[in-house]
Amino acid sequence: MTQHLPPPPPIDFSGDALFLDFDGTLVELADRPDGVVVGEQLIAMLHALSDRLDGRLALVSGRDIATLDGFGMDGLAIAGSHGAEWRLADGTMSETARPPGMDDARRQFERFAETHDGVLFEDKPLGAALHYRLSPEWGEECVALAENLARSHGFHVQHGHEMVELRRAGVDKGVAISDILERAPFAGHRPVFLGDDVTDEAGFEQVTRSGGHGVLIGTMRATAANFRLPDVNSVNEWLDRSLRN
Ligand SMILES: [Mg+2]
Repeated sequence: MTQHLPPPPPIDFSGDALFLDFDGTLVELADRPDGVVVGEQLIAMLHALSDRLDGRLALVSGRDIATLDGFGMDGLAIAGSHGAEWRLADGTMSETARPPGMDDARRQFERFAETHDGVLFEDKPLGAALHYRLSPEWGEECVALAENLARSHGFHVQHGHEMVELRRAGVDKGVAISDILERAPFAGHRPVFLGDDVTDEAGFEQVTRSGGHGVLIGTMRATAANFRLPDVNSVNEWLDRSLRN
């Protein structure tokens, strides 16, 4: 394991295609998924970066596209729901379908959250999640329930920061980045992906395969990224500094 990763070079506005995770990368993690603070300055900066990159900026998030649009991200390219759906800036959409069995999982997750204090249920267009940040003592049971449901329905279990999520198998952030990279205006450019979570490792691996590089956000750990920034603040500064160059 690499003990040290340097900070990334500034964005190359003629050559780079920029892929950005959202929670924990652009905005601080919150106790509740709807509790994040998305400042006007961040929204303006992302749109300015997208313009400078001729549209080659995409958010790559576990959240669904509609939620991110609601945060002021409409008009940007977005891969949502851990790569299960994407939309380009010109409105082109991927094919998406809610996987069979998800309604059963949704009901069971919802019932678990109702009967366990501090556990939050999150319904997603293409998946379902339990958040236990407010009561980590239920974490193990949340994970066990998710794993049971994944076995019965053939879902993928996604582990996150004090949350567990079920989604369709066979998609991840790397697959979404690869899909988007095949399309204009991203095609032929060098992908750079910033992310903080274990779910972002598939993205780091994909951008490396495509000749680009990954940037880990947070403390050092085993990672496929080549660069690192320590926190959300330093990401915002790096983006802002690149924009002023
Ligand atoms: Mg994240």
